Amino acid sequence: RQNERESLYIILNFAKNFYVQQLHESDEGQAVGLSYFKERGFTGEIRKKFELGYSLDTWDAFSKVALEKGYSSQLLEKAGLLIHKEGSQTAGYDRFRGRVIFPIHNVAGKVIAFGARILKTDKSKAANQPKYLNSPETDVYHKSDVLYGIFQAKNAIRQLDHCYLVEGYTDVISLNQGGIENVVASSGTSLTFEQIRLIGRFTPNVTILYDGDIAGIKAALRGLDLVLEEGLNVSIVLFPDGDDPDSYVRKVGAEAFKIYLKQNSKDFITFKTEMLLQDAGNDPFRLAAVIGDVVNSIVKIPDAIKRQVFFHRTSEMLKVDEQMLITEGNKLLRKLH
Ligand code: ATP
Ligand code: MN
Ligand code: MN
Ligand code: MN
Repeated sequence: RQNERESLYIILNFAKNFYVQQLHESDEGQAVGLSYFKERGFTGEIRKKFELGYSLDTWDAFSKVALEKGYSSQLLEKAGLLIHKEGSQTAGYDRFRGRVIFPIHNVAGKVIAFGARILKTDKSKAANQPKYLNSPETDVYHKSDVLYGIFQAKNAIRQLDHCYLVEGYTDVISLNQGGIENVVASSGTSLTFEQIRLIGRFTPNVTILYDGDIAGIKAALRGLDLVLEEGLNVSIVLFPDGDDPDSYVRKVGAEAFKIYLKQNSKDFITFKTEMLLQDAGNDPFRLAAVIGDVVNSIVKIPDAIKRQVFFHRTSEMLKVDEQMLITEGNKLLRKLH
């Protein structure tokens, strides 16, 4: 079992090196991949830090080389690099073709998977193919346990005692480009317990920077209670509709971006209360439901003093008696324990 995992790490590292080499040394990689990254403003230093690469637009450029090197097709398949059709006589074909490659590292820095983005110039393809293609689940890659960028970010997170959480690969990279290194991505899924625990190993302080669209906001709200339960201090910054951290930092520049973060950061309970209040309007039944929802989130916070602060703060926002909130909260707490 241990040996099997080791072999997966080795072939994944081999693949990573191959993709990096193709990006810089092949004509196609330079013409298509490198120019794509440059257009997005990713410097050589950043490409190196995240080990960005390119997969050629052929059926077997990678697997041909790997098989020649003596790696078995079974191993390539187990690593998620080769797709083999049941009953087919041929070895199979490369999973990643004609895409820029974002290697995904575990916290120790080993490559465990890849994210691969279609090139935006390729319109005929973009029509019927997903924008991002990821490695499948393997013995070393469990998508829901992973935070993209954690290996590159962990020292900065510990040092600054703070972590930014974004949605996508390119958000992580653009923020690094702008000098913000304490950033990881959930890669588009809603937050899981394992991801939160992973952040918690390095800091209790998290600021969520999700995309400025309905999906981003909904995803952020879904993550909230889990993060509170872990005892993390959560804030959120929203971006203008249609922007994500990557597009916004490139639009306004790194310095203005940092100021924007400072000025627009809101603790999550306050944020949630505001959002729900906006939705409820003046409908008393919906307002009552909002109160219940907010109390429900506050009681997830393990620290009694912090709970008290939020009961006080939200009672003003909800225009209800603080003592009533505390009483409701205590009822729920007794049910929880
Ligand atoms: P870009 O700026 O290159 O368009 P993005 O990161 O802004 O990329 P989003 O659409 O905001 O892309 O998605 C956020 C993240 O969700 C992606 O970085 C990726 O990790 C994941 N994701 C998006 N689309 C897919 C997909 N079709 N399959 C798998 N993962 C995806
Ligand atoms: Mn989005
Ligand atoms: Mn995005
Ligand atoms: Mn984007």
